[in-house]
Amino acid sequence: MIFLRVAIPSPLRKLFDYLPPVKFQAREYQPGIRLLVPFGHRTLVAILVEVVSQAQVDSHKLKAVLEVIDDTPPQPTFIFDLALWSAQYYQHPIGDALLQALPIHLRKGEKCERVHEYLLHAIENPEQPLNSRAKKQQEAYLLIKQHGEGISADALKAELGSIAAIKPLLEKGLIEKKHRPHIIKSSSEPLREPGKTLNPEQLVAVEYINAQQGYQTFLLDGITGSGKTEVYLQVIEKVLREGKQALVLVPEIGLTPQTVFRFKARFNVNVVYMHSNMSDKARFQAWLQARDGDAKIIIGTRSAIFTPMAHPGIIIIDEEHDQSFKQQDGYRYSARDLSIVRGHGENIPVILGSATPSLESLQNANLKRYHYLALNRRAGNAVPPSVELLDIKACNLNAGMSEPLIEQIKIHLNDGNQVLIFLNRRGFAPSLSCHNCGWIAPCKRCDARLTLHQKPPHLHCHHCGSQKPIPRQCHECNSTELTAQGTGTERAEQALSELFPDFPIWRIDRDSTSRKNSMQEIIDKINQQQPGILLGTQMLAKGHHFAKVSLVAILEADSGLFSTDFRGMERTAQLITQVSGRAGREEILGQVIIQTHHPEHPLLQKLVHSGYRDFAVDEINNRANSDLPPFSHIAIIRAEASNAGRAEAFLQLAQQTPTIENVISFGPFPAPMEKKAGVYRSHLILQSARRPLLQQFLSQFCLQLEHHPLANKVRWSIDVDPYDMF
Ligand code: ADP
Ligand code: ZN
Ligand code: ZN
Repeated sequence: MIFLRVAIPSPLRKLFDYLPPVKFQAREYQPGIRLLVPFGHRTLVAILVEVVSQAQVDSHKLKAVLEVIDDTPPQPTFIFDLALWSAQYYQHPIGDALLQALPIHLRKGEKCERVHEYLLHAIENPEQPLNSRAKKQQEAYLLIKQHGEGISADALKAELGSIAAIKPLLEKGLIEKKHRPHIIKSSSEPLREPGKTLNPEQLVAVEYINAQQGYQTFLLDGITGSGKTEVYLQVIEKVLREGKQALVLVPEIGLTPQTVFRFKARFNVNVVYMHSNMSDKARFQAWLQARDGDAKIIIGTRSAIFTPMAHPGIIIIDEEHDQSFKQQDGYRYSARDLSIVRGHGENIPVILGSATPSLESLQNANLKRYHYLALNRRAGNAVPPSVELLDIKACNLNAGMSEPLIEQIKIHLNDGNQVLIFLNRRGFAPSLSCHNCGWIAPCKRCDARLTLHQKPPHLHCHHCGSQKPIPRQCHECNSTELTAQGTGTERAEQALSELFPDFPIWRIDRDSTSRKNSMQEIIDKINQQQPGILLGTQMLAKGHHFAKVSLVAILEADSGLFSTDFRGMERTAQLITQVSGRAGREEILGQVIIQTHHPEHPLLQKLVHSGYRDFAVDEINNRANSDLPPFSHIAIIRAEASNAGRAEAFLQLAQQTPTIENVISFGPFPAPMEKKAGVYRSHLILQSARRPLLQQFLSQFCLQLEHHPLANKVRWSIDVDPYDMF
């Protein structure tokens, strides 16, 4: 007697036992295959984790599996194990974690087959005659017979308009399905165009990486524009020459057609990409090509970390500090951290690249866990920009811009260059307030103000998404004198078009790029290199290479300087450095102007006078002194409930749980924004100097939370190695 222990997409952190399907008692079951199982009143796709000889409950109570979907697991054992490991490490319900590691098609239970994988062939002397009355079948059969090398179902459909005849023909043994022979381009030369001549620093990096064997992690710390991508390309060249594959992960908004184009232009191999805007089908096909070794380079965002490779060669994480590598809701895994686990398990090198490495990665390099490689010079002829702080205390501001800044913008535009203006606030103004009494339009569902938008006119909560019309009167005193407070990108755009009517303004934020391909259209216009103004949020800050930008202006550096989050400084330093790095990427000398009310602030002083790396040294010391990551490990448990107080009561449990020595808990306390989207939120922080102890505590604590008397009245989640504390 055997039992199938399966993972099911349910919020429970446990596995479920089933009987094998009645007619398949004796077959072999490999962990990782998908099964259809009855669960309550539903039928779900489940994943087999283990075959056991003893069930957790009385076997009479068990139901049988309805259907075995896969003969063999769709992903290699290693990726399955990685997904299991990750579920455990991030304390996420196992069924959901295992399914999230698969393409959506497979999660839905569809067959794991490649489109065009099969060709149909006619059987020469069939045992059964063709039914002469079934015209459609006859037609299809003849067409298939005409195609001596076989024909795909798609091609048949194109010819006949239907493929309904295939099934009966197959059943009668008149035709057969055969695997299409894989056509792998066997071009022995992977290079389509030669690599650039490396500068000495790039050369050292490439040679150093290529000289190592097996698993190693390299931290490539290269200033903006130093040619990190060229290093990746030349390292990948070696990987391809060895017949292996490369997985390249980029931040969510970094995966632009330009990125893919750069890889395709260099290499004569099949390059596929995977991101969330693709159709499920296209993504699935890319996944299959990677798994089967046909795709040589796979470029993807976070979830691509689970993409299997038949011949794994290297993993590269570009802009490794970027927050998009950490999933921020539900299953909160970090693709960057998993890449290290994966590289180790598959025994391949991992490159983490960034101009502003995370303090975690820098500390790992300090501890010699990672090899540290630096690129200190810009590639080609470009030199780093000059950076200055502009004190705007007591300045008159026009939509957030001071007179001296406007003067500089004018000069750069008249020189025929482009200007990039960074303002991390979309909408027209961050709030609408009453001139008479000071009332500020609030979001009813959040502890937050509503942002005023003019295109189209409405009030919008950026935290919960609620929208409402702009009121005509103050809700407190009925005055009609409502005024927009502060500046968002829409307002800056309006002011700039009045100040510089002769120049185009390209606004890039979530609103201006919500239409499909609109981001690309704007970037194409920018790349035509006409003088003009790029205005945008952090979407503009990362990774882009705009050849003509000579001036970068940061309208307001101050909001990042006084964050309560322990990572606030690190994030602000990264953002300022990355935005500044967009200036002077080619021949033109770059200039950066940072407007601030706090020019004496130590972070700004450090960044301007010594740069990100010196800042990082100081900040690592600060973290060490206050025992914060990377010198300790933390997890946050977030709970939310429709009743104030209930979420907190739920988390109080922590105080009664026997703690493990050296695991400390803080809280519960209200979240920084306690009310959001109509629910009240409470946080509990757990911290330990040792990861395994924290893990041990979390696993037992999660089980207790699941069985908490309030468990069905409170939504809760756990975030291991959180990126932010909100
Ligand atoms: P990063 O990824 O470090 O920001 P990129 O790889 O985008 O930098 O390189 C910046 C620019 O320098 C690109 O236009 C790139 O083509 C160019 N470049 C990189 N390496 C070299 C080199 N060795 N010689 C000449 N130009 C180079
Ligand atoms: Zn009022
Ligand atoms: Zn809201």
